[in-house]
Amino acid sequence: MTAGSPGAARPHILVVEDEDSLATLLQYNLDKEGFRVGLCADGEEALILIDEKQPDLVILDWMLPTVSGIEVCRRLRQRPATRNLPIIMLTARAEESDRIRGLDTGADDYVVKPFAMSELCARVRAVLRRIRPGLAEDQVSRGDIVIDRVAHKVNRHGQEVHLGPTEFRLLDHFMRHPGRVFSREQLLDAVWGSDIYVETRTVDVHIGRLRRALGAAREGDPIRTVRSAGYSLEV
Ligand code: CA
Repeated sequence: MTAGSPGAARPHILVVEDEDSLATLLQYNLDKEGFRVGLCADGEEALILIDEKQPDLVILDWMLPTVSGIEVCRRLRQRPATRNLPIIMLTARAEESDRIRGLDTGADDYVVKPFAMSELCARVRAVLRRIRPGLAEDQVSRGDIVIDRVAHKVNRHGQEVHLGPTEFRLLDHFMRHPGRVFSREQLLDAVWGSDIYVETRTVDVHIGRLRRALGAAREGDPIRTVRSAGYSLEV
């Protein structure tokens, strides 16, 4: 897994944990492992953030203010958009019945506190590999496009495609989530980072460059413009 390979769009993990020190420790360690990490300390806010930011995986504490982790998990599983969102539950309760209840809510894995960070990171990678293989592989093909995250190369119809660093990250992000529509704001967050101010129009400029580099006019345009919504990769 090369979550942290340079220039790659890093998988986005949302940590929902109301214990500040643990949340900070999780953020530090997951960031070091090459993930992009968001934090949230409240169940209700988590549900809103997940809709907005569409993370690739959620680490969800069991006991949370306003809406409990179990309830958040249940609601996420009821929504079509988040039915398959990878979720790892954290809990201080080690009882077997609770463990089963946790799994019944639809969580993909379950980690009992206190845990070693290396153990949690291994579980995160395992869940991503199982549920989102496209996120974790070094080389991914979609249709006629192949992206190699280690060699930092892209091919279409076997021909090498030369991309700038931003276009590479854009394509990488689309390749990780084929068919999913991303708004300009979501692409800015994922590709440029939420702490940098860039106008949303900039996204359109780089999408244009990516299309040209991929030979959209000759080979067919793999990027779909969804009016008033954003862009998606359709291959
Ligand atoms: Ca808690």
